[in-house]
Amino acid sequence: MTNMVDLRRLIPRTDAVLADPRFTEPLARYGRAQVKAAVNEAQRLARTGDIGPDAVPEAALGLLARHGPRRVVNATGVLLHTNLGRAPLSDAAVRALSLAAGTTDIELDLGTGRRGRRGRTALAALAAAVPDAEAVHVVNNNAAALVLAVTTLAQGREVVISRGEMVEIGDGFRLPDLLVATGARLREVGTTNRTRVRDYAEAIGEHTGAVLKVHPSNYRIEGFTGTPDIPALAALCRERGVPLVADAGSGLLRPEPLLPEEPDTATWLHQGADLVTASGDKLLGGPQCGLVFGRADLVERLRRHPLARALRVDKLTLAALEATLTGGDNPTSSGLSAKPQELRRRAEALAARLKEAGVSAWAVESTGTVGGGAAPGVTLPGAAVALDASLTEVLRAATPAVLGRVERGHLLLDLRAVPAGDDDLIFETVVAACT
Ligand SMILES: *Cc1c(COP(=O)(O)O)cnc(C)c1O
Repeated sequence: MTNMVDLRRLIPRTDAVLADPRFTEPLARYGRAQVKAAVNEAQRLARTGDIGPDAVPEAALGLLARHGPRRVVNATGVLLHTNLGRAPLSDAAVRALSLAAGTTDIELDLGTGRRGRRGRTALAALAAAVPDAEAVHVVNNNAAALVLAVTTLAQGREVVISRGEMVEIGDGFRLPDLLVATGARLREVGTTNRTRVRDYAEAIGEHTGAVLKVHPSNYRIEGFTGTPDIPALAALCRERGVPLVADAGSGLLRPEPLLPEEPDTATWLHQGADLVTASGDKLLGGPQCGLVFGRADLVERLRRHPLARALRVDKLTLAALEATLTGGDNPTSSGLSAKPQELRRRAEALAARLKEAGVSAWAVESTGTVGGGAAPGVTLPGAAVALDASLTEVLRAATPAVLGRVERGHLLLDLRAVPAGDDDLIFETVVAACT
């Protein structure tokens, strides 16, 4: 009995736990009430003897870590990792998000005091980024952009699409199913490996609502292949008076010399596509959203369709998109353009520091990829820190989680997608995981 009382007296008081520097970040992130509740729960576990009195702060932090999304350092070498939320936002976009979280002039003209066009500054930034677009529109994601375009142009009519472009995006979502769900009928043309302009020409008729061209953004068809390019399709569509909708997917707004095979919005519009759709959180490096560019009359029809309201983006997305467009470099563009020798230098420095701290680590060459439904087959030569593979699970469970990839029997922490400023964080997390 006395023993029991003594133990209870050793349980740290709530204020003392909250004053621990490890709680500074959780307090800012979750608020006092939630952090206090976690501490109280840990104290309860200590009273019942489930944990020792010393373990209260650790247990409370562990309980808190179960809340909400957890921070992950992306050391996989996959620049746009879909399971990690695709593009990480730039500092400028993060600041814009925080500002937009309160009340803003999103739909108000402060000059006149009247209602203004929702998100007009973000839309203006998007239009300025692609001068070839007569008009622009933003929806929830690229799938929503396609749904809106196809519903507006081809509900109850036919969408002409090549059999080589019937894409599965990921997690079982298939573009053809999405198109059919709009009430359009698919008019498949050509074959898996070859489709000609003539195939499209023969399929276009009085029931055609639109011709859809889909960029094969997550697969490649090689060998005896062929498919008409945008100029050829645009000429046909213009002649027959049907709109050409082109899904570019990856969200490059202009040609990117590092990814010469990847289509971009400006070029496709210039070549005659009537509407181009893309994702905001792939190579553009912005928030999840769907971008629509093209002919003013068509964009206006999309905007006026009743579904547009159901697909519209929130103020946070508009703020982050605008900041991405006007803010210069972002983590995705920096990661893409990082030079192999610079990544090598960082990997060597990090490995040397880890070795000094008693961790077996060394720098190796490593090949990254773009990922996230963009630039399939493109490899990004870079560098990684190799660690014992037994650290894989510990680092995945750490705070922040450090996610690498296991290759050749080792855990590789590839620095391609890691902002240079996070090397210290990796160092500290790995050292903590090893002790
Ligand atoms: C990624 C992708 C999509 C889906 O875009 P979301 O923004 O994830 O909805 C559709 N089409 C293509 C070609 C893509 O690459």
